[in-house]
Amino acid sequence: MSSVIRLLPDHVANQIAAGEVVQRPASVVKELLENAVDAGATSIKLVVKDAGKTLIQVTDNGKGMNEVDARMCFERHATSKISLAEDLFQLQTKGFRGEALASIAAIAHVELKTKEHENQLGTHVIIEGSKVVSQEVAVVPDGTSFSVKNLFFNIPARRNFLKSDQVELRHVIDEFERVALAHNDIQFTFIHNGAELFNLPVSNIRQRIVNVFGGKTNEKLVPVQETTEIVEIYGFVAKPEFAKKSRGEQFFFVNDRFIKSGYLHHAVTAAFEGLLKDGTHPSYFLYLNLPPNSIDINIHPTKTEIKFDDEQALYAILRATIKHSLGQFNVAPVLDFQKDSDLDVPYSYEGTKSVEPTVAVDTFFNPFDSMKPGSSLAGQMGSGFNPFENVKPKMSSGGFSAGNSFQDKKQHKPGGWETLYEGISDAKEIILTSVNHQFDEEEITGSLFDDETSQTANYQQSYQFQKKYIISPIKSGMIIIDQRRAHQRILYEHYIKSFTVKQNSSQQLLFPLSLYYTVYEMELLRSIEQQLIQMGFLFEEISNEKIVILGIPVSVSESEVSIVLEDLLNDLQDGVPNDVDVMHDRIAKSLAQSLAVKTGTYLTDKEQENIVNSLFGCEDPQTSPFGKTTFITMKVEDIDKKFM
Ligand code: ADP
Ligand code: MG
Repeated sequence: MSSVIRLLPDHVANQIAAGEVVQRPASVVKELLENAVDAGATSIKLVVKDAGKTLIQVTDNGKGMNEVDARMCFERHATSKISLAEDLFQLQTKGFRGEALASIAAIAHVELKTKEHENQLGTHVIIEGSKVVSQEVAVVPDGTSFSVKNLFFNIPARRNFLKSDQVELRHVIDEFERVALAHNDIQFTFIHNGAELFNLPVSNIRQRIVNVFGGKTNEKLVPVQETTEIVEIYGFVAKPEFAKKSRGEQFFFVNDRFIKSGYLHHAVTAAFEGLLKDGTHPSYFLYLNLPPNSIDINIHPTKTEIKFDDEQALYAILRATIKHSLGQFNVAPVLDFQKDSDLDVPYSYEGTKSVEPTVAVDTFFNPFDSMKPGSSLAGQMGSGFNPFENVKPKMSSGGFSAGNSFQDKKQHKPGGWETLYEGISDAKEIILTSVNHQFDEEEITGSLFDDETSQTANYQQSYQFQKKYIISPIKSGMIIIDQRRAHQRILYEHYIKSFTVKQNSSQQLLFPLSLYYTVYEMELLRSIEQQLIQMGFLFEEISNEKIVILGIPVSVSESEVSIVLEDLLNDLQDGVPNDVDVMHDRIAKSLAQSLAVKTGTYLTDKEQENIVNSLFGCEDPQTSPFGKTTFITMKVEDIDKKFM
């Protein structure tokens, strides 16, 4: 048999290698920006169209290339940055593999214009799918400009694999920010689809961070500094109260190179221990300088992961340094660890007036009179009963508290109570018999059957267990309701309903509300401006770093606006479609999530009743908006069996 092994042709090898280096437009942006930095540029301009799918252009005023290098740079393993293997341990440059340009040229239409400062004329090269189309002498400015068009034009599968422009732009901005934050001594401009997103003058690091993330960032930063034998640490962490729900603003730079390190990240979060609200992530911008020979950058093709010689020492130093900074700037002692967390007011509620939440129930109406088994409970609700009416939750500083409208109504017709309750329990039966949930025996204790419960003769009292569950007797046994999930369901349906009923209606704010966002977040907000307006938002201004809001949807209160927008932005970054219904759903979910009574909150009897009543007025009482079970049932027979 003849030999079958052949060397791959260069353009095929390049395409394969390209898969490793270039995953998406952002990869090209990273490589081109880093090359410009390596070329000693003091000014770099990035121009992008359609999130980089159509065009990525990087222009620098660096040292440029001569005619030969302008052609050579597209060859695989062509690099000016290292010549010996030992050089790998003394790296001062971003690049060294010499494969980025070869990879990019293999999968796109690339145009290079470059000129060395000392030369009169420069070079213009056009290369498409690894084939040089033309190379000419040309009159071009000092420095280098790469234009990369039609990325993946010859690999349709890859091109189709690209995400929406929003998502790809997020990646491009990420890469831009990483390079810009690592090189505050270089001026950067970034233009997307004709609009200038960033213009960053040469400045100190703090100012650079502020220029990248917006004017409000400055007050959030706590400086961090430490010099030891193995590492020099410099940078900033954001005060704990500015921790974000998304893990966006977390940066490590090692010797001016952005890196990812789960291990070092852990060191930072460990320093923040006890200072953060659940589900929030600290922002940090940390610059580490280490001797080049104590790290290995070579372990990952895109060079974002590196190995440290002495990881454990680094961990300990980093953690201690940040702890120290947080303490020194009076961030840590503010928190009182003995304090009852039940009494904590979420930040977003601070300074807002507390209004008692109420649930109004029309006691004349018995929604269950005509109830047929298996039919939707909400479908049976008459017009006199609106479970959502006045379900406008507000946290008072003592947590969730009930209003008195229930009592007010009760006075109209005292007998209403019993009727209602008979109904409720029948209705519960109807709903509950169709649900066959598992239950956890251990959660049920003898205290449930205490005297108080048995002596409350004429209506069925509920009982709060572990500040977490509401236990309520029903004819066939009892139900155990998860208070938080149930409340989420109630709020969710309330908001969904109010969005659809009162679509387009807007409430004017007394004073315009200004909110500050990063450039990328502003881009996202602009992209959904029409949908937001449709929902009832009214904007005076959407600039590059702030929005001024004049009106908001009637169903959202002013203090909730920032929560709603932040959650929406988080979702959009994950590529959630931006149509109105999906947005309603998201907003309703985020409000339900943020405003529902927390596990661990004590509920008064009335609050418990309100939750029970409202839950069973919901269209879908069995699950929370996040698909979690809201209640389980326990039949008398089952309890009886335990005693046999
Ligand atoms: P690497 O950066 O790993 O060396 P690249 O493929 O990114 O590999 O670039 C190949 C070579 O092209 C570089 O080593 C450098 O000599 C040259 N080069 C690339 N971009 C520029 C630029 N903007 N200015 C000057 N030279 C450049
Ligand atoms: Mg390079």
